[in-house]
Amino acid sequence: MDTLYISNKDWESFIRGKIESRKIFAPFDFNGTLFYAKITAENADDIVYNRARPVEPLKLFLFPFKERVSPSVEGIGDIVVMGPAACDLKGLEILDRVFKDGDYKDPCYAERREKTLIISFDCASPYPVCFCELVGLHPYPEGNFDLNVSRIPEGFLVDIGSDKGRVFIGEDQKFFQITDELRKKRDEGRRKAGETIKELNRDFDFTNIENLKGACQTELWRIPKEVENCVQCGSCTNNCPTCVCFLLEDTGNRKEEMRKTKVWDSCLFPGYARMAAGASPRPTLYDRYANRLLCKYWYMVENFGMKGCTGCGRCIAGCAGKIDKRRVITEVLREKEKV
Ligand code: SF4
Ligand code: SF4
Repeated sequence: MDTLYISNKDWESFIRGKIESRKIFAPFDFNGTLFYAKITAENADDIVYNRARPVEPLKLFLFPFKERVSPSVEGIGDIVVMGPAACDLKGLEILDRVFKDGDYKDPCYAERREKTLIISFDCASPYPVCFCELVGLHPYPEGNFDLNVSRIPEGFLVDIGSDKGRVFIGEDQKFFQITDELRKKRDEGRRKAGETIKELNRDFDFTNIENLKGACQTELWRIPKEVENCVQCGSCTNNCPTCVCFLLEDTGNRKEEMRKTKVWDSCLFPGYARMAAGASPRPTLYDRYANRLLCKYWYMVENFGMKGCTGCGRCIAGCAGKIDKRRVITEVLREKEKV
């Protein structure tokens, strides 16, 4: 993979040169938290590089919360998304398998994916809820991006991950081949961020996470006391980069055009798997909570060959019940070993 170097000043003017012709989104700091916003001439100097992943998952740009699928929306435009972290790029693998590369193809997703250029960032200051290292990932992207940007004091290192990324860079004369010294500086920063995440998670044990397989017993999930605090708000599924469940909603009547709309669903909602006459395969809160975690660490592993959790920590940060699922998993695994 080609990696180029560009100075801080030249990168900033390179991005400013792009915003006139494209819609580019990037992370900005709003009261200490990172959210995506469109880059404009006024805010371009305030983009936050290489801190941590933004609040919104990358899926929001590719699989919107609500989207009309029939008649389909015309004119999905090209966009650039700057700032997704390694955890979001890993999540993209699940989205691609579900919506694009499997038996069923979602034309809306495929078109958005094609028209979105992804410029990922390294994470240098992970949040306390981040735990990518616990699930075998690292706080820097290793693939699945068009460009990846790593900030060092002198400027930026830019990895070119696709032809789309190479075209975006074009023939710009301000990019140079990197030296071993610059690469070492970046490697050192990456190593430190990984150590920070390991330290943040020293109280949690995911060593035997594959033992969650078969952990379906309701009683087991009653043991971690905090699960009872779940208020079934759906924040964990909405914010998750790999949660893909949706409903199809029909509207219209004889006078109006019939419309079909895709809307995110949540397996934490009591009605999620309810059948005719009200029967449910997951009648209690504990069953529904367990199902979500089993989906991430068992079902997705069986179906897609990879975990459905990338350790982004959004389901911890946004949980209305203040449940730290790392503690829940550590406790359930410990209990399961006793059996
Ligand atoms: S389950 Fe939670 S930590 Fe894992 S990817 Fe989804 S939101 Fe992130
Ligand atoms: S975010 Fe927390 S409270 Fe809300 S549904 Fe998920 S686990 Fe339950």
